[in-house]
Amino acid sequence: MAFFDTHCHLQDPRFGNELDPVLARARQAGVTHMVCCGTREGDWSEVLALSRRHASVLPMLGLHPWFVREARPGWLDRLGALVKNELVGIGECGLDFALENPDRELQEAVCRSQLRLAREHNRPLSIHCRRAWERLAVLAREEGLPEAGAVVHAFSGSAEVARELQSLGLHLSFSCSLANPGNSRGAKAVTAVSDDRLLFETDAPDLLPRHLPGFKAGAPNEPANLHLVAEAAARLRGTDLHSTAAWAYKNSERIFGGLRP
Ligand SMILES: [Zn+2]
Repeated sequence: MAFFDTHCHLQDPRFGNELDPVLARARQAGVTHMVCCGTREGDWSEVLALSRRHASVLPMLGLHPWFVREARPGWLDRLGALVKNELVGIGECGLDFALENPDRELQEAVCRSQLRLAREHNRPLSIHCRRAWERLAVLAREEGLPEAGAVVHAFSGSAEVARELQSLGLHLSFSCSLANPGNSRGAKAVTAVSDDRLLFETDAPDLLPRHLPGFKAGAPNEPANLHLVAEAAARLRGTDLHSTAAWAYKNSERIFGGLRP
């Protein structure tokens, strides 16, 4: 079985000098590709460097809603220039209204500009969204989505939200939290996603499946754990693991395969 991690952050300093063994374990676990998402201008060059060093790492550059306030003026022009000259997707961008003091207007403006950039250059888009589903739907309707494909990463909404976002053309990516027995909302949502919209990710080093035996809190998550998501999705959807993994792989390849040089 082959797996495609559609969202992770291999540039994260928490991997330190451990990245080579992390990539080796991913390879052994059947993970052929990892979509590595930048989160702010300070990590874009590292994301690009990793993708040049490792053919399995596909680069995405973006400004995450957590970092909109600290962005330096001109960030969008510099992102635009990189997108023009490099084979990169856009993200991680999005809306996070679950933050303690979210600057909703600034988040929306920053997200909109990245939606436009993705559309303009027809690049895949990775979206972070927490407690902002209605506004995300409005933005997607008003700005449109890139034909290459747009993904809501680590989807945490309800089955109803999943259906609505799908109808707008979005793909939904699930993380290891799907394997958490307490995640009944995720369990329902994953059954609402159609085969051709389903994706899997680790968001490594985040979203470690701490609820599962063998995973100790504080350790970084890694792409080799991706099979846990596929297994949980197959069980919850009542489908065969191989065909579930094959669908997710095919969808990932369609959206992100174009980022391969
Ligand atoms: Zn992320």
